[in-house]
Amino acid sequence: METVTKTWTRETGVVEKRDVWTALKRGFRGRCPRCGEGKLFRAYLKVANNCSACGLDFTPHRADDLPAYLVIIIVGHIVVPTALLIETDFSPPVWLQLSIYLPLTLVLSLLLLQPVKGAVVGLQWALRMHGFDENPPDGIPPV
Ligand SMILES: [Zn+2]
Repeated sequence: METVTKTWTRETGVVEKRDVWTALKRGFRGRCPRCGEGKLFRAYLKVANNCSACGLDFTPHRADDLPAYLVIIIVGHIVVPTALLIETDFSPPVWLQLSIYLPLTLVLSLLLLQPVKGAVVGLQWALRMHGFDENPPDGIPPV
């Protein structure tokens, strides 16, 4: 088995700077985390294969279930305290509460799912997770 020796130089040591907050914001808006121009999604929750503006390959992302978990946490922290506050202060009938909270939960979840997934993809890119690292450590196969 042949070993490949990498020589460190000033040029090979310089890596692209990736700001986490900028990538999160761009992803949240559904834009490419690197350039902020190209669209991140080709459908509601389908991430495009690459950026239409800068050509960044989006296929290494592994958002999996994290966006759904985060949306549950966010929506739960909005709807549950609201329901408890209204119940303790006004105690409206149950049918009225259900007719407000259930659609509110559904709409908030659907509205937040795509932006949160975009932010997760942006975070993965900024942190060089999975296949977003152009210089992965030796011995780790590309995703
Ligand atoms: Zn781009």
